Amino acid sequence: MSAHSGFILANATLITMDGGRRVIDDGAVAVIGDSIAAVGKTADVLRQFPELQVHDYSRHIISPGLIDTHVHLSQAFFRGVGERNERSDNFHEWLYGLTLPMEGAMTPEDGAASASLCILEMLKSGTTSFIECMTSENHGFDGIAETCVNSGIRAALGKVVMDVPAAYRDKVGWPMSAWFDPDRTISDTLAAYKKWNGAANGRIQVWFGCRTADETANPDLYRNVAKIAKERGMRLTIHHSELESDNAYARRLGYRSHMEFGYDLGIVGPNAVLAHCTAADEEDIKILAKAGASVSTNAANNAVSAWGPTPVVNMLAEGVNVALGCDGTAGDANMDLLRDLRVVCHIARTHAKTRNCLRAETVLEMATIHGARALGIADQVGSLEVGKKADLITIDTDVPHLTPIWSPVATMVFAAQGADVDTVVIDGKIVVRNHEILTMDEEAIVADARLRMPEIARRAGVPAARPRWPVL
Ligand SMILES: [Zn+2]
Repeated sequence: MSAHSGFILANATLITMDGGRRVIDDGAVAVIGDSIAAVGKTADVLRQFPELQVHDYSRHIISPGLIDTHVHLSQAFFRGVGERNERSDNFHEWLYGLTLPMEGAMTPEDGAASASLCILEMLKSGTTSFIECMTSENHGFDGIAETCVNSGIRAALGKVVMDVPAAYRDKVGWPMSAWFDPDRTISDTLAAYKKWNGAANGRIQVWFGCRTADETANPDLYRNVAKIAKERGMRLTIHHSELESDNAYARRLGYRSHMEFGYDLGIVGPNAVLAHCTAADEEDIKILAKAGASVSTNAANNAVSAWGPTPVVNMLAEGVNVALGCDGTAGDANMDLLRDLRVVCHIARTHAKTRNCLRAETVLEMATIHGARALGIADQVGSLEVGKKADLITIDTDVPHLTPIWSPVATMVFAAQGADVDTVVIDGKIVVRNHEILTMDEEAIVADARLRMPEIARRAGVPAARPRWPVL
């Protein structure tokens, strides 16, 4: 099938995620240009568009593309580095001793190469849209945006805004290679917005990528960012209410909680995606609901960092838009969002001690339509509906671990993995087919990553990655 002409994917099981949440056996999707032209029974769609090329997707599930709402493109080369931590409960040791020095040592070429590896992994495992939480100045925003454009993925690129007070930098040994002038981070974000927002047929958005409103930040900066974002209709993302230390910090400033503090700053609002929220309590959830903010829970990464669970079930019950994210591979080590579908469910049920919570259907909503709301484009993506952008994936179920199928939703949530994704369509263009990426040079990206990783570690003064056992 050619890249941008119309085509039909036929004879599949469709999980539409439309208003009625219809699942269609022996279904087909017709794609014309960048949009979905028909969704229905195969016979009906073929009758409606007899001139289109038809491709047989029997024994495939077709679902809306997955949406990863919290990504660190810069951490693709740090896969699994968190296990190097000698006292792995110490978040600051992980951040200031390993991750930040390496991020600071990266060049724009490294930034684009890391983004390529990360996007390659996301596309091959069914992620069609993502939110990058904070692209650093030294990683080269233009190169990363170009990588997104050329790969075919849909991206909201948060550009870092930061103001780390000098006293705090001295206290923790903040690497100056990972520090940027606060005013410049704002003006550079606005320049990037002007240059890139809406590029590639609207596939690229530019957001404010706030770090976190804790003692590492001057609160005035984020109050200002919230004001500018509101005035200009821009969106922002931030790590928020992550740890009890965030709540303690907010209490020192006279607030009941970190969430209340963020609401007062203006960063907890309808244009915001808040990552983690693992330290949010019942009162905080009410603030989130009132503010209309989205939450990105990063189940596997929060679990491996021993942060405790995001109170996902209570948030959903209060009407908060909760979506999923893989976070960076410096913590948990994969960008396979299908894996996170079941992890978020495992954690919620373990915590609630009942299986009658967070059903497979709800989890799939979080990974698709909730993600689309977090991106601010639920009218364009997140479900298979006529007139929406054609962002979809197919899962090849003709394998032992996906056989037999009682419910395609349960199969997708509890049994499928990224490697089962056969075909990925974004903006009407086929990006992955028969498990192969069509828009990127996989071999070159992987080979380059192998060479680059030890170089970055050397420049950062971080010992090369090794297990704790003797290596001969
Ligand atoms: Zn993060």
